Amino acid sequence: MSTVSLAERRERQKRHDAERAAHLARRETFETRRRSAEELRALAEEAERRFDSPDTTTEQVLTWVAETFGLRTAVACSMADAVLPAVVAEYVPWVDTLFLDTGYHFAETLGTREAVELSMRLTIVDVRPEQSVAEQDAAHGADLFARDPALCCRLRKVEPLTRTLAQYEAWITGVRRDEGPTRADTPWVTWDAKNGLVKINPLASWTFDEVLDYAREHDVIVNPLVGDGYPSIGCRPCTRRVAPGEDPRAGRWAGFEKTECGLHT
Ligand code: SF4
Repeated sequence: MSTVSLAERRERQKRHDAERAAHLARRETFETRRRSAEELRALAEEAERRFDSPDTTTEQVLTWVAETFGLRTAVACSMADAVLPAVVAEYVPWVDTLFLDTGYHFAETLGTREAVELSMRLTIVDVRPEQSVAEQDAAHGADLFARDPALCCRLRKVEPLTRTLAQYEAWITGVRRDEGPTRADTPWVTWDAKNGLVKINPLASWTFDEVLDYAREHDVIVNPLVGDGYPSIGCRPCTRRVAPGEDPRAGRWAGFEKTECGLHT
């Protein structure tokens, strides 16, 4: 049981808030030129070759990211757990952490987002669609996700993310090879032609158990749904529990052929 007193916790929170404010002030004045698509593609291709080895480590990849892109780096986080941003923040403190606020999240996911922002050295950036759920319902009919999940994902995830990524040079995702056949060949670094920036997968070789081990060892926040049968968490209407031993992503868009939201394809 924690022995930290309320006064100590308040003091810690005050220090955390002051550090965040100092980072945000620095970020405001950050003015380096964004490299061109050609420059970024060359960097991605060179790194893809350099890191294409079974000996490559997460540490090597993230050291390169911090030195090469610094504050032009963004991390994508679904708030299933905060392991990916926690790992990245060891190299890029207060890294921008993009949360796709689709309007369809589980209450547990929104609670995880709040807890992460309050306690971790990260800068949460809420990425929102142009239309609220009510506006989308009026334009396309209610429950678009049940009729055309590809369109719903495009409007609520892919397009808002693409708009946001335009200000960065590199984005970091938590895609792992063990997540299923569609992700078995995930490289450490690749050129993301669709979004025009470098894409990095520093947990590519990790297993689900290694993610949980890291969370335990470093006291990282994990969405309570993970321990309740949801190893992969997306929007509430498109995510169901999976049985032990089942493909971790079998609970996403169950009943549809769709297996990816379009962010990684
Ligand atoms: Fe819509 Fe479902 Fe995609 Fe969320 S996961 S954006 S609800 S189709």
